[in-house]
Amino acid sequence: MERVYIGLGSNLDEPQEQLRSAINALHELPDTLLAATSAFYSSESLSPGQPRYTNAVAALDTALAPLDLLDSLQAIEAAQGRERKERWGPRTLDLDILLYGDQLIDIPRLKVPHYHMQARPFVLYPLAELVPADFLLADQRSLAQLLADCPFVGLERL
Ligand code: ATP
Ligand code: CA
Ligand code: CA
Repeated sequence: MERVYIGLGSNLDEPQEQLRSAINALHELPDTLLAATSAFYSSESLSPGQPRYTNAVAALDTALAPLDLLDSLQAIEAAQGRERKERWGPRTLDLDILLYGDQLIDIPRLKVPHYHMQARPFVLYPLAELVPADFLLADQRSLAQLLADCPFVGLERL
């Protein structure tokens, strides 16, 4: 089993309901235990003019291989009506693999740690609820340092 952290986001069609449904779906994944979920946060969209997002982070213990997990997450997105139009467009559900154990993965379909998490308060602050204060990412960056460099701006804990 590997400890995996998933970033959840939605800014369409009742975002809080979308996240609740997604958490139920994560709970149902084969060979996987849902270990914990963060609080929900409301965040400004990175794309101007879009509705605010609701975000959270979930911790899983899974025996699914990384690409099998990605397939499963994309199936959950599709089941909740995710349409892939323009990148970073509004979406009913986005599930990103933030961290997969202590693995470093760099293939076109999957980059872990998630490439932009250090710049995203809506990822770092919910993640911090689920890990010890001295937590290190797989690439040895300290979460405390990433938080110190990423102000709690545009974010509201719900
Ligand atoms: P961002 O990646 O900036 O958060 P996004 O989540 O909107 O943007 P998507 O359209 O959901 O981007 O995903 C585009 C592709 O990113 C996916 O098809 C997937 O193959 C790839 N990808 C690369 N690394 C990851 C990861 N760590 N988690 C999820 N998808 C990833
Ligand atoms: Ca994303
Ligand atoms: Ca995504």
